[in-house]
Amino acid sequence: MSQMPHSQTDIFISGGGVAGLTAAAAFGTAGFRTVCVDPTPPVTSGTAQGADIRTTAFLNPSVKVLEAAGLWDRLVPHAAALQIMRIVDAGGTEPTARLVRDFNAAEISDQPFGWNLPNWLLRREMVAHLEDLPNVDFRSGVATTGLLTRTHGAEVSLSDGTRLTSQLVIAADGRDSFIRSQSGIGVKTHYYGQKALAFGVTHPVAHDNVSTEIHRTGGPFTLVPLPDRDGQHCSAVVWMEHGPKADALARMPVAEFEAEMLARSTGILGPLTLFTSRSVWPMRAQIAHRLDAERVALIAEAAHVIPPIGAQGLNMSLADIGALLELCIDNRTTLGERSTLRRYHQRRWPEIRARVAGVDLLNRAAMVGPKPLRDLRAGALGALYGLKPVRQLMMRAGLGMR
Ligand SMILES: Cc1cc2nc3c(=O)[nH]c(=O)nc-3n(C[C@H](O)[C@H](O)[C@H](O)COP(=O)(O)OP(=O)(O)OC[C@H]3O[C@@H](n4cnc5c(N)ncnc54)[C@H](O)[C@@H]3O)c2cc1C
Repeated sequence: MSQMPHSQTDIFISGGGVAGLTAAAAFGTAGFRTVCVDPTPPVTSGTAQGADIRTTAFLNPSVKVLEAAGLWDRLVPHAAALQIMRIVDAGGTEPTARLVRDFNAAEISDQPFGWNLPNWLLRREMVAHLEDLPNVDFRSGVATTGLLTRTHGAEVSLSDGTRLTSQLVIAADGRDSFIRSQSGIGVKTHYYGQKALAFGVTHPVAHDNVSTEIHRTGGPFTLVPLPDRDGQHCSAVVWMEHGPKADALARMPVAEFEAEMLARSTGILGPLTLFTSRSVWPMRAQIAHRLDAERVALIAEAAHVIPPIGAQGLNMSLADIGALLELCIDNRTTLGERSTLRRYHQRRWPEIRARVAGVDLLNRAAMVGPKPLRDLRAGALGALYGLKPVRQLMMRAGLGMR
């Protein structure tokens, strides 16, 4: 019987979604031998079948992690800056804007809140960057199928029949993480019965680098700036609704859907023209009981899942990568040992728990149907906004700044 090859690495990353690819670039750039696997080959064109047409708004603190990974210079030419976060309450009797409040990044920093880019483009640039890193081996079309850990290392089996040993295994294999379940780490999950529609639109009114979140019922309708497209103003939309309504919207003929969008957006950017397909994402909140196990660290959606409000999800994942990388660099000679991983858990888990709870609260407030509760929501926004220190605190907290 032929013996399959068995190799060794410092870091093994299970999952090459946006988080796993970023982790591979970050650990590779820091000089660690890194192997990353994913069963689904990355789709690197916006029009190809299976393209991830969502966008990611990278908030200011994430830029440091992307810079350390050598990615930022490749990404920034394709990004739209987010200077103002506009909250619109349209929860009155008529679906019109009755309260508009602007949070301007200039109040707390000389930098924008963040930068928005399409996820398919992130994958394109990240995969290209990994090809330039000689110590990173990205194996697409390959899944992790087995994990055996011991105090001195982890042995990983892969779907192509190969095995390897690694000092540290990073679980970046998503919300139903294989590595997490193999490590015996449980999760707490809440299903909202809500779905998010994600798609791209062009519009006649310029967005002026303002990201607009419009509240009525069922969840927020958010327009996030993108760079102009063929001379037309352009935004990404995330529209959260109760599941059956979201499914009906996704199936609706385009002209009817565009009329629904125009009404739900309160006409703030004029008529919206759909230029992508509509992708549908079921909403859940989830947090792993721990972020560490023997030779294993959980990051990104393997560790936490939240509804897409305030652009928190992937930004939390980049904070995971930043914290884990720093601890690994400081403890290179004892890479993957339990004490370092325990410190990673201690550093990140309380922050993750607070953010999952905060986004859950915002989502429940955004979902409310009865008008008196919608009035209460608008009143709370108006009151909090009026207090400058509270407003600044909210902006800093949203960015994950201390
Ligand atoms: C509509 C929407 C809009 C969003 N907008 C924002 C935003 O503006 N800003 C923000 O910060 N976040 C945002 N998020 C959240 C963000 O998109 C997610 O956090 C991010 O995409 C999840 O990335 P991930 O790499 O953790 O998981 P995934 O993208 O799910 O990647 C996991 C990978 O693991 C692979 N995998 C699975 N099983 C295995 C296995 N056995 N072996 C190896 N690999 C495996 C999968 O193939 C997959 O590629 C949004 C989310 C949604 C739904």
